[in-house]
Amino acid sequence: MTEWSCYLADESATVAAGKALGQVLAECADGLSLHLAGDLGAGKTTFTRGVLNSFGHSGAVKSPTYTLVEEYQLPTRTLHHFDLYRLGDPEELEYMGIRDYFTAADICLIEWPVRGEGVLPPADVLITLKVQEPGRIVKLESGTERGSRLVQQLAQ
Ligand code: ADP
Ligand code: MG
Repeated sequence: MTEWSCYLADESATVAAGKALGQVLAECADGLSLHLAGDLGAGKTTFTRGVLNSFGHSGAVKSPTYTLVEEYQLPTRTLHHFDLYRLGDPEELEYMGIRDYFTAADICLIEWPVRGEGVLPPADVLITLKVQEPGRIVKLESGTERGSRLVQQLAQ
């Protein structure tokens, strides 16, 4: 397992960390599953905004709390941003055809992956955000070989 963590002093540092990951993702054409863990208010959506910014998306990024997933067309592929906070049962993911989202090229970024445990495919990278007043700590842990290469590139 490859691990990397960093203190994020303010919101802009969280966006910058997301951007840095986005730049590494842009160099990898594979489909990726990225889990974003952390309490409410830890900065998961802010981090996602950074990832999307790096691909040129400058519009708003809202947590798809009720729709569960929001789709973003990036220049070369699609990013699916999930927020599973309100998911009642992991089996609901089967009804929404969850497997179809995990293609050979798309990126899935999933807030509250714990709600989908048992149904979601394993994460390439688990990203955990934690409040450490006045800022946050972000930690990335790889779950696959592919994820390990990404974390190594980010740590360089
Ligand atoms: P989540 O999606 O985990 O619920 P959000 O991304 O919506 O959390 O962020 C919650 C709040 O935390 C926002 O007001 C955001 O500006 C703030 N925030 C994000 N990163 C930091 C940071 N590094 N330091 C301080 N506040 C931050
Ligand atoms: Mg959120």
